[in-house]
Amino acid sequence: MMMTATEYEASLRKLSLKVYMFGKRVKNVVDDPIIRPSMNAVAKTYEMAQLPEYEDIMTATSHISGKKINRFTHIHQSTEDLIKKAKMGRLLGSLTGCCFQRCVGVDSLNALSIVTWNIDQKYGTEYYKRFIKYLEYVQENDLTCDGAMTDPKGDRSLPPHKQADPDMFMRVKEVKDDGIIVCGAKAHQTGAVNSHEIIIMPTIAMQEADKDYAISFALPSDAEGITYIMGRQSCDTRKLEASELDRGNLFYGGHEALCVFDNVFVPWERVFMFREYDFAGQLVEKFASYHRQSYACKSGVGDVLIGAAQTAAEYNGAHKASHIKDKIIEMNHLNETLFCGAIACGCEGKKEASGTFCVDTLLANISKQNVTRLPYEIARLAQDIAGGLIVTLPSAEDFKSEETGKWIEKYFKGRSDVSIEDRFRILRLIENITLGTAAVGYLTESMHGAGSPQAQRVMIARLVDMAAKQKLAKGLCGIEKA
Ligand code: SF4
Ligand code: FE
Repeated sequence: MMMTATEYEASLRKLSLKVYMFGKRVKNVVDDPIIRPSMNAVAKTYEMAQLPEYEDIMTATSHISGKKINRFTHIHQSTEDLIKKAKMGRLLGSLTGCCFQRCVGVDSLNALSIVTWNIDQKYGTEYYKRFIKYLEYVQENDLTCDGAMTDPKGDRSLPPHKQADPDMFMRVKEVKDDGIIVCGAKAHQTGAVNSHEIIIMPTIAMQEADKDYAISFALPSDAEGITYIMGRQSCDTRKLEASELDRGNLFYGGHEALCVFDNVFVPWERVFMFREYDFAGQLVEKFASYHRQSYACKSGVGDVLIGAAQTAAEYNGAHKASHIKDKIIEMNHLNETLFCGAIACGCEGKKEASGTFCVDTLLANISKQNVTRLPYEIARLAQDIAGGLIVTLPSAEDFKSEETGKWIEKYFKGRSDVSIEDRFRILRLIENITLGTAAVGYLTESMHGAGSPQAQRVMIARLVDMAAKQKLAKGLCGIEKA
């Protein structure tokens, strides 16, 4: 059954998550003013799936139950599914202006649908069957899953088993008849406290000596022993202010958290990889490829930023200047380039042995490499167009004050037919996306999410057929016979 946004919110209220922020336990996670905008963003994935006009993009037919499901729980059955996932990401990015968090879940489900099958083929295990049972549960209940990959990693020059602290990578601490006890943490967890489930995957390829770290499993997000520590974001406490004017994005936001697993029990039916170290790298690669495509979301946020930059220019009368027009064209060019990559790696996707369709790995890496750069250039141009006021604008309180309001009104007026309040709002939105809470998602997450830039460069170096390229060159200039 697909949940409505209201049902989703109600379902979160039933969880008893252990969340900390600003040194205190957050008792009511759903209504916390700092966290709530991020919940609203995930709720959008439920809301949009209910609308008939978005049915094709937002929903799919389950290949196991044949029922209509939210696309965020779907296992891709065609390249068309992959393309629709990218379009869905752009749509939601444009409607929320931030990270809506739910993609990590669908990307980990798809990666596991491939790798559990492959492990079974080699070792005669039954992970795929377990996984499908879990998937049925996720689809049937329309759950949001946090796909958790990034370990803290400690000393980067050392493999997991050589770390001074053995918990720097998630590990099996004890094996029991009915399951395993795990210890470790996952960092930068997007949407963690808005999730019903957390799906753990290894973060790097591993050798035999690291086999206790080669694990994958899923747990309810409020399982005993899991603690969430919320990450800070620039301007986060503006959400606590009485006036909405300084918030920029009034409705939505993202969040990231550190998830600590302190001796957590995982029953066997929730374990999808157990010491098959030779498949850790494959799981990382599949998840990363899927998630690198998901960064189509940033072209949606880019749509908002471009719209904001154009509006800011119109509000101060600069929009007709040729250099402003050209900057807007450049922003659009860069933004659509991001989208092209996400669509292309879906078009070039292939069917894996399990039947799941996966994106083209090289193109997904190229696409994400662009995402590590182009939003910064788009943001730079938006700041160029917006002018210095995005960082020197006084607060909403000064604007409302009898003493100072009149001066702000007088001197920060742009075009006389545009209200100062509208100018305030649009500049704050640009600030929010390029410097404030949404900059986490639009900029730094673009840089590091789904792997930092170097991770993609390693993949690009590995995946391009250099010998074929050299053969072409040598053939054409006569070094070798063509
Ligand atoms: Fe989804 Fe984009 Fe957020 Fe990643 S950064 S979870 S792809 S919205
Ligand atoms: Fe991300």
